[in-house]
Amino acid sequence: MEIIDGKALAKVTRENLKKEAEELRAKGIVPKLAVILVGSDKASQIYVRNKSKACEEVGIEYEEILLEEDTKMDTLLDIIDDLNNRADINGILLQSPIPEHLDINEAFRRISPEKDVDGFNPISLGKLCLNQDTFVSCTPYGIMKILEAYNIDIRGKHAVIIGRSNIVGKPMSLCLLNKDATVTICHSKTKNLKEITQQADILIAAIGKKQFVTADMVKTGAVVIDVGINRTEEGLFGDVDFENVKEKTSFITPVPGGVGPMTVAMLMNNIIKATKL
Ligand code: NAD
Repeated sequence: MEIIDGKALAKVTRENLKKEAEELRAKGIVPKLAVILVGSDKASQIYVRNKSKACEEVGIEYEEILLEEDTKMDTLLDIIDDLNNRADINGILLQSPIPEHLDINEAFRRISPEKDVDGFNPISLGKLCLNQDTFVSCTPYGIMKILEAYNIDIRGKHAVIIGRSNIVGKPMSLCLLNKDATVTICHSKTKNLKEITQQADILIAAIGKKQFVTADMVKTGAVVIDVGINRTEEGLFGDVDFENVKEKTSFITPVPGGVGPMTVAMLMNNIIKATKL
């Protein structure tokens, strides 16, 4: 069993991106990200702070647009339009969740595909579906980089994903399918979940429920990737019962220090890519 060190991999990734940012700056091109944060969601504030720190480390300029909880949809769309039109902005990120009265899909759709560094625009997702070059959403992309870095075979393997969200589960399934995995997506209405997860060579947990995946759900030798971030009074937990599951696996990601740091690193990667475009 090997515990995947997402933190170390993310560090190397950021160092390589820093060199690319320096090369761009030497040509007078300064990569820049704009982040829109609506309301005062605590977790979002942490994510945004982590992203700004990573930008600083890599040499990406960063602009934060803080909007009140009661911001109107028209105002949000006007701000996105303005950022789409600004030549100094290479990437635009709308931090989710946004308040319920706002339509997040409409907002994602409004972000120009050339600046869609989160890969949530339908054009980006459509291109991923067609296996064309695009911005891949950062969490699935980070997981693909982890699998690649640890030389984990994907072709012909059975990958089971628990969770079908637009930002993790669905794009994850497309990434794995594009690399010739046989993919099963499970969700809250799936029957006999355990029977399916027990068949997984690669099991990806993106549910948002603390220690949901238990040892009896995992095949011996499986690769287990834990996307979950569950903050409780006892601390931060993944979606996998790490201590009991780890001995059965060939590779497993911890929480924290697994998928999370690679998600942020892939955002940096996408901003540099957008700047080059
Ligand atoms: P989501 O709430 O949008 O989706 C959760 C999915 O889990 C749904 O598709 C649902 O059908 C499924 N699910 C819920 N209960 C289930 C059950 N009993 N059996 C089977 N499936 C069930 O969540 P999300 O945005 O995809 O995020 C999932 C988790 O990953 C959260 O903890 C989130 O915080 C975390 N996350 C982490 C990162 C990272 O960088 N590490 C990035 C994004 C999300």
